[in-house]
Amino acid sequence: MTLPEHPIDTPPRAPSPVHRFGTLAVHAGSPHDPVTGAVIEPISLSTTFAQTSVGKPVGEYEYSRSSNPNRDNFERAIAALEHARHALAFSSGSATTATILQSLASGSHVVSVSDVYGGTHRYFTKVALTHNVKVTFTPSIEIDIAELIRPNETKLIWIETPSNPTLSLVDIRNVATVAHQHGILVVVDNTFLSPYVQNPLDHGADIVVHSVTKYINGHSDVVMGACAYNSDDLHQRLSFLQNAIGAVPSAFDCWLAHRGLKTLHLRAREATKNATAIAQALEASPHVIAVNYPGLPSHRHHAIALKQHRDGMGGGMLSFRIRGGHEAAERFCQETKIFTLAESLGGVESLVEVPGAMTHAGIPREQREIAGVFDDLVRVSCGVEDERDLVADVLQALEKAVVGAGAGKKGGNGVNGTA
Ligand SMILES: *Cc1c(COP(=O)(O)O)cnc(C)c1O
Repeated sequence: MTLPEHPIDTPPRAPSPVHRFGTLAVHAGSPHDPVTGAVIEPISLSTTFAQTSVGKPVGEYEYSRSSNPNRDNFERAIAALEHARHALAFSSGSATTATILQSLASGSHVVSVSDVYGGTHRYFTKVALTHNVKVTFTPSIEIDIAELIRPNETKLIWIETPSNPTLSLVDIRNVATVAHQHGILVVVDNTFLSPYVQNPLDHGADIVVHSVTKYINGHSDVVMGACAYNSDDLHQRLSFLQNAIGAVPSAFDCWLAHRGLKTLHLRAREATKNATAIAQALEASPHVIAVNYPGLPSHRHHAIALKQHRDGMGGGMLSFRIRGGHEAAERFCQETKIFTLAESLGGVESLVEVPGAMTHAGIPREQREIAGVFDDLVRVSCGVEDERDLVADVLQALEKAVVGAGAGKKGGNGVNGTA
């Protein structure tokens, strides 16, 4: 191994805010090791750090739950990619949500879009309430916001854009303008697009939340979460809770997720390209009733995508209604050869699922259908395989599921997954 001649004199290569996304993804929070010159940071597994005298640690670390090198570096990278001053990492996206909700005083009120991630809905309705934090859900937040705000009580607005699984968009700026007139914070769950496609803080949000499990890690092998924001006051409150509640990710997971993040721009571009091709093929198919993809000009909120997403990109997620009802939706998911029938999203491998029977099975049918989650809805997470192979796979599965009804394999094995 040859070390650089003056490794310690090598100026830190921390990218400045003027660098573009790909440069930040690769370099933010990734300093060379000042002693060995290692280009990739080591995994620091030590839970505790030596002190030379009482209260005088050798370096900046004392105990790994409070902070450690791998988490710090990952958090720096997230802050850079979300155009934030601060970021915090948690053991899951759900732990991130829980910690933000825990920061609210008892008696606080929250307004949320109705179409939130199932686990977020569960936390809002079953856990937050026990801390006397009440949540009002609305399917049309841009219209209702002013009238749903309760003076002195409403502290937080919760937005997911695009929504899951119908890919509806919310104009963040419109909601934030009203919220800020009342001193209310706006949180945006940006999991479905990743910071490559959308930066909610640039559109007026105060906190951006991610399930890192999805696009940021991107390889379906880490469960983790993160949030980012600019306010120093928020940073004090949330980092206190991060340490006090202790729902923190391991050093190894931080290292893995940081490795994943370095290729986010490549993966997000490829996933968008694939999703666009699949959405177009689906829209042209006689076997499809409707396609939800924000990148299509036919999408009801395409104008918001053009305003809010990088280059009007649609991201890697889409959903569609298949002809032939729930049976056809299930058959489609069993007939794909490249797409795996599974929950989750945002990995390099393409996935399909039937939300009505899987991720959203816990919601009563009438409520689901109002939100557009019909039994014949199929959700697709596009990976980074070859576009032509993916389109061909979708078309052959459609043909078998709709035309060849009854002729295909139909066991029902594993279709009814957990919520
Ligand atoms: C998966 C997901 C979450 C929850 O994240 P976990 O890491 O599974 O706890 C939150 N929001 C959205 C939009 C998600 O897709």
